[in-house]
Amino acid sequence: MNKQDIFRQIPSVDEVLDQPLIACAVGEYSRNRVIAVVRAVFDEYRVAIAKGDVTESLGIDELVRRVLDSVQQADEASLRKVINATGIIIHTNLGRSVLPREAVDAVVEVASSYSTLEYDVETAQRGSRHDHVEALLCELTGAEAAMAVNNNAAAVMMVIACFARGKEAIVSRGELVEIGGSFRVPDVMAESGAMMVEVGTTNKTHIADYANAITDLTGLLLKVHTSNYRVVGFVSNPSLDELVALGDARGIPVMEDQGSGVLIDLTKYGLPAEPTVQESVARGATVVTFSGDKLLGGPQAGIIVGRKEAIARLKKHPLARALRLDKMTLAALESTLKLYRNPETLLRNIPTLDMLTRSAESIKAEAQSIANRLESALGATATIRIEREVARAGGGSLPLADIDSWVVSIEPHDYSESDLEEWLRTKTDVPIITRVRDGRVLIDPRTLIDTDDDVIVECIAQFAQAAK
Ligand SMILES: *Cc1c(COP(=O)(O)O)cnc(C)c1O
Repeated sequence: MNKQDIFRQIPSVDEVLDQPLIACAVGEYSRNRVIAVVRAVFDEYRVAIAKGDVTESLGIDELVRRVLDSVQQADEASLRKVINATGIIIHTNLGRSVLPREAVDAVVEVASSYSTLEYDVETAQRGSRHDHVEALLCELTGAEAAMAVNNNAAAVMMVIACFARGKEAIVSRGELVEIGGSFRVPDVMAESGAMMVEVGTTNKTHIADYANAITDLTGLLLKVHTSNYRVVGFVSNPSLDELVALGDARGIPVMEDQGSGVLIDLTKYGLPAEPTVQESVARGATVVTFSGDKLLGGPQAGIIVGRKEAIARLKKHPLARALRLDKMTLAALESTLKLYRNPETLLRNIPTLDMLTRSAESIKAEAQSIANRLESALGATATIRIEREVARAGGGSLPLADIDSWVVSIEPHDYSESDLEEWLRTKTDVPIITRVRDGRVLIDPRTLIDTDDDVIVECIAQFAQAAK
């Protein structure tokens, strides 16, 4: 067909609006929005005709379909569920920790009703929002006092601002880390109004380096857990014990930024030893800060535990108000922490810990089951295998932990692996995030939840069917 003929056959906007399916959409999404979409679809169509990309007139049914797709797509939430088949457990871009069921229920309850956020029902007096998690945090970590703010970056910033604004904060050169995104220790120091005093060298810092750097202006001794990397070889930094002894002798608070926030002994599950929060508290750190959504497995939060006077000062700091937690996060944090009271059911109840500690055998069995189902769905169009793999905690936690694991690998014959990867990510109802390596799409069962495996098998089968 020539362009003029195709142009002539474009229906009017009103003709499209009169179609029954479009009338339904108008009922659901409002007339103005549907008209705007119809115009946008027509504009795109006209451009395609003018360019010669369209050589036959599209029927009204096809135009209606495009309008409906486009209206629905525009209505889709931007923040929505995805399936994480990458095996990276604390995947920062995919939202870090999946909340425990109990935490989700608690969030729904306080979000859909009024709550005791800052109210004491016994006395009918105003209460403090810190109360909901402070006693639990003290019970679990052995600290005298505790509070929680928006995230660990906020916690670190507030502690430095509170104790070292206009003063000096001493930190080892070996601990001046960048934790991904825009969290760099020197920048946080600068924002907090502290003067950073670097001591030691990249690989070795001694307690004497700290001691020699102390002046009348020193407000804080800092220890930062180098979460996401390790320097190995001729390396050392002063221990927390040494820093606490020095700080106590000179009357200077010691802060440890622990990052990941481990409350249990991970070596029991074959994972590398990480200092626990309890250990840092027992060693006498003035304050210890850590994230709520890394190895703790709860909501995004920055938790500060430590000595009573220090926490009391922090609670009164103006930043505490600016960085405070909302009721939904507090509800999720309280119920996550409560799960730590029962060590028997802890790993089962906290998805992050469950994923982290699942045995290679159980992952292998799940990989085999997915592989079997894919094999019958895909037949000869792809080679399906299960392969040994090393899983990672992610989120900058446990960087050296090689977690023994298994994945399903799909090596397509009739289409490319990147087409499959892209289709799973962009064309399914729930985006499925996978990894591609050496011509194969990898599915890691370690980070799958509920019926994710069924959804994946079904979607891949659908793709293979369409690709035929
Ligand atoms: C992750 C991390 C942070 C930042 O914590 P957020 O909760 O992401 O704000 C700060 N310090 C250390 C050592 C970390 O590991």
